[in-house]
Amino acid sequence: MANTDEVAVGIDLGTTYSCVGVWQNDRVEIIANDQGNRTTPSCVAFTDTGRFIGDAARNQAALNPVNTVFDAKRLIGRRFLDSTVQSDMKLWPFKVICDHDNKPKIVVNYKGVEKKFSPEELSSMVLLKMKQIAEDYLGKKVVNAVVTVPAYFNDSQRQATKDAATIAGLNVLRLLVEPTAAAVAYGLDKNLTNSSAGEKTVLIFDLGGGTFDVSLLKIKKDIFEVLATAGNTHLGGEDFDDRLLNHFVEEFKRKHKKDISNNAKSLRRLRNACEKAKRILSHNAMTTIDVDSLYDGIDYSTKITRARFEDLNLDMFRSCLETVEKCLVDAGMDKNSVHDVVLVGGSTRIPKVQDLLQQFFDGKDLCKNINPDEAVAYGAAVQAAILSGESNQKIKNLVLFDVTPLSLGLAVKGALMSVIIPRNTTLPNSMQKVFRTRNDDQESVEISVYEGERARTEDNNLLGEFELSGLPPGPRGKVKVCVTFTIDANGVLNVSAENKDSGKQNSIKINNRGTLTKAEVERMIRDAEQFKAEDEEVMKKIKAVQAFEKYVYKVRDNIEGNNKLEASVKKTISNSIKEVIEWIDANPSAEFYEYEYKEQQFEAICNQLIPGIAGIRIDEII
Ligand code: AMP
Repeated sequence: MANTDEVAVGIDLGTTYSCVGVWQNDRVEIIANDQGNRTTPSCVAFTDTGRFIGDAARNQAALNPVNTVFDAKRLIGRRFLDSTVQSDMKLWPFKVICDHDNKPKIVVNYKGVEKKFSPEELSSMVLLKMKQIAEDYLGKKVVNAVVTVPAYFNDSQRQATKDAATIAGLNVLRLLVEPTAAAVAYGLDKNLTNSSAGEKTVLIFDLGGGTFDVSLLKIKKDIFEVLATAGNTHLGGEDFDDRLLNHFVEEFKRKHKKDISNNAKSLRRLRNACEKAKRILSHNAMTTIDVDSLYDGIDYSTKITRARFEDLNLDMFRSCLETVEKCLVDAGMDKNSVHDVVLVGGSTRIPKVQDLLQQFFDGKDLCKNINPDEAVAYGAAVQAAILSGESNQKIKNLVLFDVTPLSLGLAVKGALMSVIIPRNTTLPNSMQKVFRTRNDDQESVEISVYEGERARTEDNNLLGEFELSGLPPGPRGKVKVCVTFTIDANGVLNVSAENKDSGKQNSIKINNRGTLTKAEVERMIRDAEQFKAEDEEVMKKIKAVQAFEKYVYKVRDNIEGNNKLEASVKKTISNSIKEVIEWIDANPSAEFYEYEYKEQQFEAICNQLIPGIAGIRIDEII
């Protein structure tokens, strides 16, 4: 370390478990907590006597379910009305209410008084515990940390995670995405950073307690680049526990004619037993569930086989493969090009998950060398060391690149989305596109910036708007506006627009793209797939109109600059141009074939008068 008094740690703030690591003596050490465990439950409990965090909180959960809070990561940066919040709430024993600004708050009873906490505050308590674990082990204060977030977290969720760290007294050196952190652990384990081995494409399959992330990365010596990510913020071990829980609740109903589903204490105790059974089923073909006095004094004892467990969850296991497929498609990559499939997250220990994944990759051996519970914290600890000036040869030159989770673009004529930075583009990045005005002598243009995958902007998410005024006079389609989208390494987007002729420019900085929740990101991508056919129809029509308009402007540019043309030819074509432009404006809802027909007519007139005049691509109309 550059300064021996300053230690920066890496924290994996997980949905169900958290883990902290530090770079010491030329390697990462994962730090055990006061119970000797290397991972700590992301759980906070409030009682009449005090607050408990981690193992202590989890150990008393069954006795105090309504005041024992877990899963804060599922709430962080989300709105109360978010569909995932609404569905999660039904399963949580603790109470969640809607606070002002549509934010969720968790209500608990602490020392006899009702208290409301935000998800940020609860996550900060877990982070505080992780900080203390590190400080106890290192014997010094820890202030700086790299904290990990799922690749799919949007800005609001990232910002809320940062706020949680600040509340815990931590200075976040960097938020690192979990798959990249895991890839670093894999890369160092395989000694890739020091090897002269060529480029490796690695698929990180991260199935944890609450979230599922798939990422494809390219590793070339010291450079780790995310190629594509896909995931489901709402799939993980807890969902498998839920299925088991529901199975036993139904069985209890059948056997004892009693419904325990409204009793938080019984449910919590049965859920704990389910999670334990699930873990055992990763090694054994069968296990038992024994809960004394589960409900109405009834001792509950039953059996479950691995086959039954697999059967209960098969649809969810299979859905993981769809996500893998999607990630590969997004990266434009064939599964045979993947060198290694790396397993991360506790739920990848489930044999059926491994089997299905191995089958998908045609029997390829899966990489199980790295500890699935610790890999993310390991990578975070490495990044923390690099950012604090660690000079170890193995890591000092590591460079990690992230990607943007949604496409970014602006609204063009017809309220269509013109994508400037496509989804899964590596950050930082800058891309540019030239647009043309839609009206004669248009003085200004409105730049409306959106994120999303749909063809029409109304189906996407508006990030910000600004105006570029003072445009020079000129006919429609003549005046050009160059729009530049720039995203920095932290995902902050800057949009600028310029008219080069007049030198006029304006810009907007969008650093809180947090109006969308992760679920919304997923929904938008899902919707986009579902509505693909509809969008294609819209796009087909829009493209026909745009092609038609482009062609008309091309012809106009061509005849204007052509001194050899007879005045009568010029006049006939100019009249035709005027007529078709008026027709386009007057018929915004014409059918695709009508545009095509009109264009063919216009083309025939032009070709007759100026043989060989052909349409070439020009810019879109803003
Ligand atoms: P993570 O978020 O990566 O810490 O993963 C935690 C999840 O992994 C929890 O849902 C655990 O129940 C689950 N898990 C841990 N070990 C096993 C195991 N041996 N078999 C199945 N699931 C496990």
